[in-house]
Amino acid sequence: MNNQELKAFADAWHDGMLIAVIAMAAIALIIFLLYHLKVSLQRTYKEKHDYINTFEIKRYKLAFLFVGLAAGFLINMYGRDEIAWPGIAFFVRIFFGISGATMIIYISSLVLDYYYPTIVNRKLRRLRFAPRTSTTGGKMKLLSEDEEDVHLNEGMQAEENIFSIDYDVWIDPKTNEVKIEKYLGHLISLECNNCGFFTMRVKQEEVIEKNDDGSPKEILKHYQCAYCKNIRATQFTVNRKEAEDYKHIKPKPKNSSKNIELVKIDLRSNAGAKKSFEFSSVDEAKKFLDEFDFDKVG
Ligand SMILES: [Zn+2]
Repeated sequence: MNNQELKAFADAWHDGMLIAVIAMAAIALIIFLLYHLKVSLQRTYKEKHDYINTFEIKRYKLAFLFVGLAAGFLINMYGRDEIAWPGIAFFVRIFFGISGATMIIYISSLVLDYYYPTIVNRKLRRLRFAPRTSTTGGKMKLLSEDEEDVHLNEGMQAEENIFSIDYDVWIDPKTNEVKIEKYLGHLISLECNNCGFFTMRVKQEEVIEKNDDGSPKEILKHYQCAYCKNIRATQFTVNRKEAEDYKHIKPKPKNSSKNIELVKIDLRSNAGAKKSFEFSSVDEAKKFLDEFDFDKVG
């Protein structure tokens, strides 16, 4: 190639990269904006919760894929006139472009997989426990159920692969209107006791005890952390109430304590001894205090 052809090639390459950068950045932005538009179109807190839980991390990952590509093309615009075909510098620049893109995509996916769930979780809890409004416009209260209780769908009772459900029962104290929301337990991420990320999810659930009629009574949930691979198993009682049952029993709401994550009790005896206890719910702490005898502990 003569000088003129080289110049033409460098210009064409530069223009092509510029178009690619703009296109990739635009796609990333569109994915991001469309996602947030979709979130805002979800009508209820519950629908928003489920939508964010299912799509936020996936969509952000996709958006960052295009951000990475945009950066890769951008790197290939460096040194427009100095780095022209043919030459080693040209291929080195391509290599740096690919590395840069890979790094952005890889790091963003790590952040979104492990660190970001903590932020999503905060958002999800805010949506899940935001006071609901009844059809008459009244403020509803969340019925606090035993935290250890889970529910199974009727069809699930006989299945091998069960996944339990949490019911959130909202009641309008004035009109007794009841609103029930179902949360699939295995789709909710919990905080890992080991690494502290919100990356703990149910891997498997098994029935460990049955009622006389063969229906599940106690189940064991096996959790695993996606980050540190720490495992945990917790036993739950299967509550046999179906969603419909809550509409007939007209339960009285208690003060909601469901949005409490940790209760810490510090006890000091008059002899100066000190003991600390942590509980995951107010009920557990109450039960503990009822039975408490300082001399008998530890
Ligand atoms: Zn962990």
